[in-house]
Amino acid sequence: MAESPSEVASSHSGPTSAPRPQDLARAAMDKIAALGLEPTPQMFELWFRYFQGDPEIKRAINAHPGILDETACYLFYKRFLSETARSDAIKTISDRIQQAVGDLAGTIDSVKSMTSDYTGSLNVVSEKIKKAKTLEELGDAVSSIVEDTSRMLQKNQNLEVELTNSSTQVAELKKNLDNVRREALTDGLTGLSNRKAFDKQIREWVGDSAAGGGELCLLMLDIDHFKSFNDTYGHQVGDQVLRLVARTLVDGIKGADFAARFGGEEFAIIFPNTPASAAERVADSLRRAVENKEVVNKSNNKSLGRITFSGGIAQYVKGETITNFIDRADAALYEAKHSGRNCIKQAK
Ligand code: GH3
Ligand code: MG
Ligand code: MG
Repeated sequence: MAESPSEVASSHSGPTSAPRPQDLARAAMDKIAALGLEPTPQMFELWFRYFQGDPEIKRAINAHPGILDETACYLFYKRFLSETARSDAIKTISDRIQQAVGDLAGTIDSVKSMTSDYTGSLNVVSEKIKKAKTLEELGDAVSSIVEDTSRMLQKNQNLEVELTNSSTQVAELKKNLDNVRREALTDGLTGLSNRKAFDKQIREWVGDSAAGGGELCLLMLDIDHFKSFNDTYGHQVGDQVLRLVARTLVDGIKGADFAARFGGEEFAIIFPNTPASAAERVADSLRRAVENKEVVNKSNNKSLGRITFSGGIAQYVKGETITNFIDRADAALYEAKHSGRNCIKQAK
């Protein structure tokens, strides 16, 4: 069991006062140094949040059975903080859209009240004109119409500019929101669809297939001996490998086939309207494509040898749950691992 990291005591007296940010920052830096980690912003954010008392991060780190090394901490960061950053961004943009829409509504209200003020003053002036007995009184009434009208035109111009600004802002914010939403379904490291997008897609296609659609296959694949690869070359080179595998998968599938990063070093591909025999052919050609890629360390151009993956394929059986479908592909993957790796197995 790893040593459980210590708490940061509040520097203020009283049980309810929160620790000061500078104390949290110091505790985070001390922890990073004590664990011998690289003091990157990600590590800092992870440990800062830990000492701040983020319940999920605390629970996960305290329950971590092994050593809290670079890779372990890095994976905690990815699991808890890259997603948080994205949902924070969605919230900020949504708040700003709400504000811009509020501004727009305010401008529209001003237009309404201005028009009714103007109509009111026109009525007053028209009464004055009717009752005017002298040329002077008539002249005054006409001047006040001219004045009101030019004031109205001026205000109108200002409001038009405000309206255009607000509408442009709303359109821009909406575009930002669409981008962030798309990002929320994309894996930041590989650019593939992420687990959330996978869940959505498989739900949709299992629904179609259950409702009488075509055959549906799922390939689960997992990189072989990736832990030792990471331990030997470091997680940054490991990340490079994950990107290489992702690219190879995308290049090797076609049509509606859907590739996602399922988590860690596991990927999933869903093949709609594809029988198991065809999915197996594609899986095996992907396996060979990865096996034939030479991994080169980008920082020094040195060859790091080759990597392989194992895979399991399941064809959807009408009536089974999504969990069961995934479990069967997983069991086939497990069998592939136990048959010596670098191969594809069909689910029972
Ligand atoms: P097996 O052939 O049985 O799959 O062995 P393995 O070593 O690949 O499997 P294991 O599940 O023991 O280790 C998976 C490793 O994948 C652990 C972790 O170091 C690494 N890993 C998971 N996610 C990431 C990531 O985002 N980046 C990097 N660099 N490594 C990751
Ligand atoms: Mg794995
Ligand atoms: Mg693995």
